[in-house]
Amino acid sequence: MLEGAYRIGLGLIVAMGLMAFATTIRAPNGYGRYLGDKLAGTIAARPGWLIFEAPQWMAFALTFWFTARAININTATLLLLGLWQAHYLYRGLGMPFRMRIGSKRLPIATIWFGLPFNALNGFVNGYAVGHAEHLASASWLGDPRFIAGLAIAGVGWVINVHSDNLLFRLRKPGETGYRVPYGGMFRFVSSANYLGEIMLWIGWAVMTWTAAGLIFALFTIANLGPRALSHHKWYRATFADYPPERRALIPFIL
Ligand code: NDP
Repeated sequence: MLEGAYRIGLGLIVAMGLMAFATTIRAPNGYGRYLGDKLAGTIAARPGWLIFEAPQWMAFALTFWFTARAININTATLLLLGLWQAHYLYRGLGMPFRMRIGSKRLPIATIWFGLPFNALNGFVNGYAVGHAEHLASASWLGDPRFIAGLAIAGVGWVINVHSDNLLFRLRKPGETGYRVPYGGMFRFVSSANYLGEIMLWIGWAVMTWTAAGLIFALFTIANLGPRALSHHKWYRATFADYPPERRALIPFIL
């Protein structure tokens, strides 16, 4: 029965990814700089982020602990569980308190779309790690796919967190305006944090070698790719002195 739910979950995530791409390529999701002063249909951004991200770590941990095959509980899968939890506990419980979003709001529609997606994604990834045949032995830790994926994910995570930190520091406590970010991978692209996020999930897909990991990486590209293009256009329209050599998402290319 759970195998059926896993397959349906994968199908739903593909559908959500296509929907996210089709809508965000036309107009960016209306949170952050695209929300303006709108109050109707919104909630305070900080609790919004806390609610929004919680299903990712809850669903992964619960699915893994309650459904994983005994043979799939080994050093390799426990490391994967630990990495997922470390990332999402920071993203869900730490980052919302580090963001300088003061009085800013988050659209309730964003949360309504994000909650089922995050719950499903936590479930399918927890299920995949708990059931994949190739993850039934700790020898996966020595597999070149695991090592290469871990390296890509590690570099992506560092770029993502470092870039987010540079963005947070652009505001003094209480400020809500925008400045041009400099330093780190912002030398090359406008959405350095999204570049890191995409690398992180490509790395996860490679290191787990599961359909769930691959579909999440593709979803992240479909969701953040168009948003990175919107951010780039917005920076160019907003700041006359915006660095002309800077690309949107992929250094020297896009
Ligand atoms: P943004 O880059 O839009 O914003 C990140 C934070 O920095 C926000 O608090 C934002 O404030 C602030 N900020 C951004 N640009 C500036 C600037 N020029 N001057 C001052 N402050 C700025 O990222 P998101 O909010 O979309 O995402 C936050 C994190 O979540 C990122 O790490 C992202 O990768 C991740 N994420 C992952 C997704 C996935 O599909 N896996 C989906 C969405 C996000 P404000 O909110 O006021 O604009």
